[in-house]
Amino acid sequence: MVSRADFLSALETDIKPAFGSNEEVLDSYIGTGIIIWDESVQNVLNAGELCTKTLKSPNCDGIFTMLLEGPPNSGTTALAAHMCKNSGFPFVKICSPDEMVGFTETAKCLAIKKIFDDAYKSELSCLLIDDLEGLMEYTPVGPRFSNAVLQVLRVMLKKNPPKKRKLLTICTTSRASMLEEVGLFPVFRVVTRVNNISTGKQLVHVLLNVNDTFSQDDLGRIEKEVKGKRLWIGIKQLLAICSILGQIERHERARFFLEHLEEKGFIRDDLS
Ligand code: ATP
Ligand code: MG
Repeated sequence: MVSRADFLSALETDIKPAFGSNEEVLDSYIGTGIIIWDESVQNVLNAGELCTKTLKSPNCDGIFTMLLEGPPNSGTTALAAHMCKNSGFPFVKICSPDEMVGFTETAKCLAIKKIFDDAYKSELSCLLIDDLEGLMEYTPVGPRFSNAVLQVLRVMLKKNPPKKRKLLTICTTSRASMLEEVGLFPVFRVVTRVNNISTGKQLVHVLLNVNDTFSQDDLGRIEKEVKGKRLWIGIKQLLAICSILGQIERHERARFFLEHLEEKGFIRDDLS
């Protein structure tokens, strides 16, 4: 005879997410880990923890929607994945345009709905809905987007799960203004801003975390060079530059790094 315990065990072990294993996909989004390069990063993580705690508390149920918004490459996806992993919720699933390449509009809408329906089967679920504008196939040329996908997202993000079910959705975007224009913004209970790196101190903090790339002297030189200039770089871009520094001679690295930042417009002389 099949008991309730069997059902619960099946939920835990047999109901696999439609798009790959949660843990592995989450880890691939988190990458090499989160560097707390400034208290603003800690604040974002704290906001995630607060949302998780709030939803877990006995007097809160239904859906709790959170939005992480920040410029492209600022690390919104990794931060959202980190929050999902740390939520400790038994059911975590990712809804990302990466997993839906080539889907027709209808297939995409059905897939999004299924992700929510699957989440409703667990008492505590967490969904990472990555790159909302990508899911909606938004393009600024035109501009165009899929209204059908927008409507599915709007309905599902507003809808309460069945009784005694709690659902945390952590969404990401680099186009908050677009979400506002299409009327999706009001569905989010908490909106948290993710920033780019903009000071020499923050930059050096990241560089210190990238294993043995620069000497103390180099770090001092970099911080000095950046002082008084306009710095604006996403963590993803910064780590990508750092990943090639290992191929550069040690004594050439600081010069190469600074030239590269300037060449790509990440640091500028003008403060206007
Ligand atoms: P895109 O605009 O392409 O969607 P993104 O803003 O979502 O990019 P991620 O894909 O999250 O950026 O990449 C950020 C990378 O930086 C990840 O590999 C992550 O491990 C690393 N990382 C290190 N520290 C942080 C941090 N404090 N916040 C976010 N990501 C970090
Ligand atoms: Mg992303």
